Amino acid sequence: MSVSQTVRTVDWLGACRRAAAAIRAQLEAPQTSSERLAETGTIGGGGDRTLVLDAAAEDAVFAELDRLHADGLDFVAVSEERGEIPFGAEPDEPHVRVVIDPIDGSLNAKRGLPHHALSIAVADGPTMADVAFGYVFDFGPGEEWSAWRGEGACLDGEPLRERPMERRSADGRLEMLAVESADPRHLHRAGDMADVARRLRVLGAIAVSLCQVAAGRVDGMASLWRCRAVDAAAAQLIVREAGGLVAFPAFDDPLGAPLDLEPHSPVIAALSESALAQLSVVPVPLAPR
Ligand SMILES: [Mg+2]
Repeated sequence: MSVSQTVRTVDWLGACRRAAAAIRAQLEAPQTSSERLAETGTIGGGGDRTLVLDAAAEDAVFAELDRLHADGLDFVAVSEERGEIPFGAEPDEPHVRVVIDPIDGSLNAKRGLPHHALSIAVADGPTMADVAFGYVFDFGPGEEWSAWRGEGACLDGEPLRERPMERRSADGRLEMLAVESADPRHLHRAGDMADVARRLRVLGAIAVSLCQVAAGRVDGMASLWRCRAVDAAAAQLIVREAGGLVAFPAFDDPLGAPLDLEPHSPVIAALSESALAQLSVVPVPLAPR
């Protein structure tokens, strides 16, 4: 069986829902703010300081992965905190790749701000174009975003049937653009968006911001710095399956960004080719490749 056929044999939605429910229970368990703020003292595979809640959330996802592997599925997991872990698959051979951010926006979770999400992407190859299934559960509003490649996107299990409409103000600028940047030193690039967008929103979680494009709640999304695959892999499929457009401008092939742990390229999403082109010109220094 080919890797792409193997991906389709698994109930990924069910596995993701069980992981999301377990994480939600952890997040809703009564705890003091100092417990919420506790750190494990390690640095995750993605380079952030690992919070206790990140580590516990990752354990919940890996419990599902252990179960899938015990049932006979071989794959490679790429996770924000634990890094790249083979589950019976050879990383050098074609394999199923599961790309996980147990909590995207964990600083929001830590501080009690609403948007923070589980993000899981399942791929049959090494790049964004190869993502076959994407799942994002936003714990703030309790929204579930999912997509299978070629089958459209769903919100809370219902297909997003209407292609999201781009809204522009009278002067031609996008009405609302989501931007993401954890570091204020990158925010000056938002100033370069003045000719492109009329209003900005910063939610604090790349996966969640991208999903807002899928529903047409914003007219585009741009990360103002290079993002990692764990943050964007699932949501970029959800946007594309909803009828939107996504690019990783550091790569000649717009979906050529690899599914690894390095921050390679900004991610941009839009609802029209012209808006995507406008967002592509905002300069972000590209990582050496
Ligand atoms: Mg995270």
